[in-house]
Amino acid sequence: MGVVSSKHPFAPIVCGNGVSKGIAVGSAFVFRDEAPLIEKPFQGAAIEVARFESAQATVLKSIELMIEKTKRDVGPEEAEIFEAHLMMLQDEELIQPIKTSIEQDQQTAESAIRMSFEAHILVFSEADSDYMRERVLDLKDLRAQLLHALHPEARSTLSGIKNQVILITEDLTPSQTIGLDREKVMGIITEKGGETSHTAIIARTLGIPAISGLSGITETITTGMEIALDGKEGSIFEATSPNTRDYFQKIILAQQSDQNALTHFVGKKTSTHDLHSMNLMGNIGNFEDAKAALSGDSEGIGLFRTEFLFMERKSAPSLDEQMSAYYQVLSLFSSQEVIIRTLDVGGDKPIDYIQIKKEENPFLGVRAIRYCLKDLPLFKTQIKALLVANDFGNLSIMTPMVSHAAEAKKMKLLVDECQQELLLNSDYKNKSFKLGTMIEIPSLIFEMKELKEYVSFISVGTNDLMQYSLAVDRMNPDLQDLYSPYHLGFIRMMKLLADEGQKYGLNLGICGESGGKDEFIPLWIAMGYTKLSMVPGEVLNKRRLISKLTMNDCKALLDNVLQSADASEVKLKLSEFHERIMGA
Ligand code: PEP
Ligand code: MG
Repeated sequence: MGVVSSKHPFAPIVCGNGVSKGIAVGSAFVFRDEAPLIEKPFQGAAIEVARFESAQATVLKSIELMIEKTKRDVGPEEAEIFEAHLMMLQDEELIQPIKTSIEQDQQTAESAIRMSFEAHILVFSEADSDYMRERVLDLKDLRAQLLHALHPEARSTLSGIKNQVILITEDLTPSQTIGLDREKVMGIITEKGGETSHTAIIARTLGIPAISGLSGITETITTGMEIALDGKEGSIFEATSPNTRDYFQKIILAQQSDQNALTHFVGKKTSTHDLHSMNLMGNIGNFEDAKAALSGDSEGIGLFRTEFLFMERKSAPSLDEQMSAYYQVLSLFSSQEVIIRTLDVGGDKPIDYIQIKKEENPFLGVRAIRYCLKDLPLFKTQIKALLVANDFGNLSIMTPMVSHAAEAKKMKLLVDECQQELLLNSDYKNKSFKLGTMIEIPSLIFEMKELKEYVSFISVGTNDLMQYSLAVDRMNPDLQDLYSPYHLGFIRMMKLLADEGQKYGLNLGICGESGGKDEFIPLWIAMGYTKLSMVPGEVLNKRRLISKLTMNDCKALLDNVLQSADASEVKLKLSEFHERIMGA
C-alpha cells in the first residue's frame, strides 16, 4: 500500500486501486466476517449427512432469493454470479466428497465441509487462469454460507449496519456485496480484489465508490474513524476536521448537479465545438447491456463481446439461440451500426467446454480467431447466426486477435462460404454487412495494405494492444504501473496505426478501455479515430467533453504530447489540458 500525491489539498493516508469512481465521506465500519468455528460432536453418519443436506437446502433457497433480488435491483448479468453458485452447490464433484468424508471418515458436517472446500480452494488458487483463481472467493462464500446455515445463531452479518458508513473489510463475497444496503453503505474499501473482481463490478453498477488492493487496511483504520475516499484516484483521507468534511461534501454535491446537467446532451449528435463529427458507441456483453446502451444514448454498439453467450453453460449455444441473441440487439438499434465480435475464447476468457490443450503461454496461444479457424463447425454456426440475424439490422462483424492479414483473408472466405450456403435457403435475405478486425497485435499495423483487401474497418483493442506491445500481462497486479497508455511509444504507435489506417481508407475506431478515457479523447480525435466505444453509461459525459474541444486544440495537444520526455510528462500534459477544458 503506497502513499502517493493526490489532486485534493490534503495528504492521503493511503492509496490503493480506485475500482469504482465517486467520492464518499463518513464513518468507517470495519467488518470482519469469519465462518463460525463451532464444532459439535459426531452424531452418526446418517444425522451428519442430514444436517449437511439441510444446510445445503437452506443455502440453495437463499441463493435463489439472491438471484431474484439481483435481477430486480442490479441486472441479470450480475445475477449470473449467483446462478453459478447455484450450480456449484449442486455439483457432485463438490458435494460427494463431503458426504464421503462424513460416511467413511466419521467427520462432522462442519469439518467435512471445511476439508472438502479447502481442497477445492487449494486447487483453484493454484490454477493458471485468473478466472479460476477468482472462483476461490465464490467457494469461500459458499463454505461460509453452509457453516452459517449449520449455526444460524453465530451469523455475523452486514445487516447489522445501522447508520451510513464506509465499509472496510478484507474482501466481500458476491452475496455480501449484493446484500449491501445502498442507503447505508456509501463507500467500500477492501484489502483484496481488483478492477475485475465481482465486488468491483457490482460496486460500479450500484454506483458505490470503491477502492481495493489495500492490504492491512482493516488494521490501519478503525471503526468510527471519520474518513473520505476518492474511488477514481484510489485515495483515502482522514476527515476528522469539519473543513475536510465540508470540502468533500461540496465535491459530492457538485458531482450530483454535474450529472443532472448532462440531460442537455441527450439526443444530440456528437461533435467537437468546430463541428467535427464523432460516433460514441457502447461496449456490451448481452441484451441487458444493449438496453442500457440505448438508454444511455449510445450511437450504436461498437463492441458486442459474444463470448459471454458461450460462458456459464455446458455446451455452445445453438444456431437458433445465437440468432435470437444477435437479432435482439440488432433490432434494438435497427438503423444504427452494431459491431459484433466473433468468439474471443482463450487467454483471460476460458470457456470450460472448449478444450484448448494446455499451453505454456495461453495468451500467445490458440485463442480467438486462431481457435475459431480450427473449429469450423462452431465458427460457421456463429457466422451464419450473425448473417441471418442481420435481416433486420445494420451488422458489422469484427474478428479478434488477428495477427496476420492472411487470417482476415481466411475470415472473409469463410464468411463468403457461409453466405453461399445460406443462399441455398430461400428465406435468407442476404442483407449487406461490413467486415472488420480488431487491432490488438502490433504486427497488423504493418499489414494495413494487405488487410484492406478483406475488411472495411478496424477497431483498436487497446487493452490487448497495450499487453502485446508492452509485453505486460494485463491481469498482473504487480505490473500495473508498466501497463500504461501514457507510454510515449504506445501513443506514437496509436498515431502510426491511425495514419496507416487512413492511408488505406479504413474506418477507424477504438473499443478498448483507453478509447473512453477523458484525457485521451483529444488525442484520438487529433489522430483521426472517428468511433469510440465505451461502457454504456459514459456516452453523455464524453459527448459533453467533445463539444468543448476544437480540432486545432486537439492537434496542438497531440504535437505537444509527442515531444514529451516520458510517460509522466505525457500524463501531466494530458491532465492539465483536461482540467483547462473542463474548467472553461
Ligand atoms: C481489447 O483488447 O481492448 C478489447 C476491447 O477486447 P477485450 O478487452 O475483450 O480483450
Ligand atoms: Mg482483447
